[in-house]
Amino acid sequence: MNQCALCGKRKMLGGFAENEHFFCSKKCSEGYKIAQKGFCKKCTSETTDESIGGGNSFNGIGTGLGFGFRKSKCPECNSVIRRKWFYFGFPIVPLGKFRVIQVLSRSGFGEQTRIFLSRKLKVQ
Ligand SMILES: [Zn+2]
Ligand SMILES: [Zn+2]
Repeated sequence: MNQCALCGKRKMLGGFAENEHFFCSKKCSEGYKIAQKGFCKKCTSETTDESIGGGNSFNGIGTGLGFGFRKSKCPECNSVIRRKWFYFGFPIVPLGKFRVIQVLSRSGFGEQTRIFLSRKLKVQ
């Protein structure tokens, strides 16, 4: 059985291999490249190694990301600044700001997978 190098999904049928890695879908192979590339030098220098933490799943209570600040989009690595919030159904407590690169966003068949890279901004 093959396991997707990005999302970890196991597949009996379908999917494809690329550069010695197996991917369940084209989306995942593209996401893998985005993740490999990561942040550009400028964005790396403006941030710390601290990531947003937590898993990919989010059920409305706990910490999650708000919408991206559109103007903050980096032309080089496509990261955007997003604020981490503590949610209780809706965002109530603002936490730190992070640069975020979305690697994979997929929903369907009752599952939702979100994978992203994040680095905390030095200047909040
Ligand atoms: Zn996958
Ligand atoms: Zn950048």
